[in-house]
Amino acid sequence: MKLCTLVSGSSGNSIFLSHNGTNILIDCGVSGKQIQNSLNQINVSADEIDYILVTHEHIDHSKGVGVLSRRYDIPIVASHGTWLGMEIGEIADHNKIVFNENSQMDIGGIGVTPFDTPHDAMQPKGYKFDLGDKRIAIATDIGHINQNIKDAVFGCEIVILEANYDEDMLESGPYPYHLKKRIGGEHGHLCNVEAGELACFLVENGTHTIMLAHLSKENNSENVAFSTVARILDLGGIKVSKDVKLGIAPRYCTSAPIVI
Ligand SMILES: [Zn+2]
Ligand SMILES: [Zn+2]
Repeated sequence: MKLCTLVSGSSGNSIFLSHNGTNILIDCGVSGKQIQNSLNQINVSADEIDYILVTHEHIDHSKGVGVLSRRYDIPIVASHGTWLGMEIGEIADHNKIVFNENSQMDIGGIGVTPFDTPHDAMQPKGYKFDLGDKRIAIATDIGHINQNIKDAVFGCEIVILEANYDEDMLESGPYPYHLKKRIGGEHGHLCNVEAGELACFLVENGTHTIMLAHLSKENNSENVAFSTVARILDLGGIKVSKDVKLGIAPRYCTSAPIVI
């Protein structure tokens, strides 16, 4: 199993997951050329991608999806609502995989279970992956943590978790009022503190690796996100490095791969 983020943040998101010979991209929010460059960094060629899963239609998740699918004949997996919302050009029928329910799907031998996320898109999803005895969850673009999210990520060993903004930085930052309201709202993005609280819950239930992702460029920094989450973990008696590996997904380059 190999997992890494390729790009992360509002300028584009994409995650690479490989297991038992199946290579999946989760989102492709940069151009076809950029994603090829990112894949080159991890010695994967774009024609080796077997599936593209899309979490939701926002451009930072869908920009290169259509191009990649057409160029390399790659099937796209997305919720019904995401298909309606995505503007990715013509996609061949045989490359359209649509789901409506959150039941487990078999994607190239990997068990994939979607879950609902509170975010201002048509039918946004997070994904949980069952890889034999290991489980991974990808939970970004979440306005707030609810029981549904907790249930979905519960028991996953590895979680890629949004830590979008620091509340004070968002408040005092340059964004116009309506944008501040959107990001901080129930269906916007997740703040560092809530990420920290979910991180506590996760580690208490067996998660050993958390990668913070989708950090805002204006309203967060790697240091602020890391130290906020580490402090909340510490308050819960959890030591970073000893009890949990805590990483940050870089904005423009690939993260260190998580390999099992
Ligand atoms: Zn979004
Ligand atoms: Zn996003």
